[in-house]
Amino acid sequence: MGVDRRKFLKIAGVSSIFALGGGAGLLGFETRAGASGGEGGEAAESGGAKAAGAQTERLGIVIDVRKCNEHPECNKCIEACDFAHNIPRFPDRQHEIKWIWKEDYEHAFTDISTLQKYTPEEVEKAKVLLLCNHCHHAPCVRVCPTKATYKLPNGITAQDYHRCIGCRFCMAACPYGARSFNWLNPRLGLRGRKLNPRFPTRMRGVVEKCNFCVERLAEGKGIACAEACPYGVIKWGNLLDPNSEIRKVLAKNYTIRRKPELGTSPSVFYII
Ligand code: SF4
Repeated sequence: MGVDRRKFLKIAGVSSIFALGGGAGLLGFETRAGASGGEGGEAAESGGAKAAGAQTERLGIVIDVRKCNEHPECNKCIEACDFAHNIPRFPDRQHEIKWIWKEDYEHAFTDISTLQKYTPEEVEKAKVLLLCNHCHHAPCVRVCPTKATYKLPNGITAQDYHRCIGCRFCMAACPYGARSFNWLNPRLGLRGRKLNPRFPTRMRGVVEKCNFCVERLAEGKGIACAEACPYGVIKWGNLLDPNSEIRKVLAKNYTIRRKPELGTSPSVFYII
């Protein structure tokens, strides 16, 4: 980097005042061409990764909350993700690093759960798997001053740990709490655990989140959470391919997304 780290953080701090002065600036939806264009507009734009109309792949995930809650004791998806990505564990919740985790329905769907009356008890009490939504219009990408987080042509919101300066703008911008900051040395949270030698551990002072198993996809494998689930709760695939498994699941089931009113267009769908 041309500017040293301390100077850069100062500049970043000043920029944040302006960004926070206008919520729209922080989230940046209004100024984004095609942001209100619905699914057609979404297909034509990939966070600036591709020219209009050129995108042929947009990866997404469907989670069957009903099926998942038939097996409340099962955490195989979380364990598989933890191992695949060497995710540290700390007893203090404020140091927690989350890639995929379970949350109460009312906290996962704050908007719906407060508006909806007479919700079935099994839904109200359901635990919901949460992760990065790999938003089509990702506010985290827009605010990152170093481009440490960026969109891939296949729709994944990627993160480069080496470019991350720990400013945490992305965490402020993400309306889903999908990002975690390494306040502590993450390697301390891996002590005594079996590590995956094929995935790098991170450093203190960087942000991390679900990466849609980009490293596994590059090797022709599936995503770790879906592969580990013995009940077929998690399906994934190309949302732009009408013949993909995910599109077939979406065509057969009514699904919802988290906070769709924000215009981020999440790529994670839930069967409730
Ligand atoms: Fe970014 Fe949050 Fe959307 Fe993931 S869920 S792409 S971290 S805004």
